Amino acid sequence: MLSMPPATNVVAASTVLQLEPFTHKDYKELYVEDAEFKDVYQECEQGGTSEFSSDFHLQNGLLYRMGRLCIPQEDTRICLIREAHILKVAGHFGASQIVSNLQAYVCWPKLQNDVAKCIVDCKLCCTSKPTVS
Ligand SMILES: [Zn+2]
Repeated sequence: MLSMPPATNVVAASTVLQLEPFTHKDYKELYVEDAEFKDVYQECEQGGTSEFSSDFHLQNGLLYRMGRLCIPQEDTRICLIREAHILKVAGHFGASQIVSNLQAYVCWPKLQNDVAKCIVDCKLCCTSKPTVS
């Protein structure tokens, strides 16, 4: 019998973060255009110390909020949610599990809403599960 590795969720979430769409170089450009992050990104770039940017910091050009990578742009977010949802180790996670997996590493405004929307769109879940939790 195979034994499960410890901290499966952590392994899974870090797998998510190493996916190809996660090219950090692109993020720097996306922050500048992102409606939600562009202001705080600019402020951090200029060494901002206001209350507005106090939760944020830049590391290698990437924006972090309280240690979690800020994800710019809807496409990138949806991609991450899908990957977090359809993990090989556990199949189709429910929304709350995905949210907690993602929130351990990344953040963006309305993350929970976006996860809920994406799950609803999953055709496999719609046909194979009576309810989506
Ligand atoms: Zn699904």
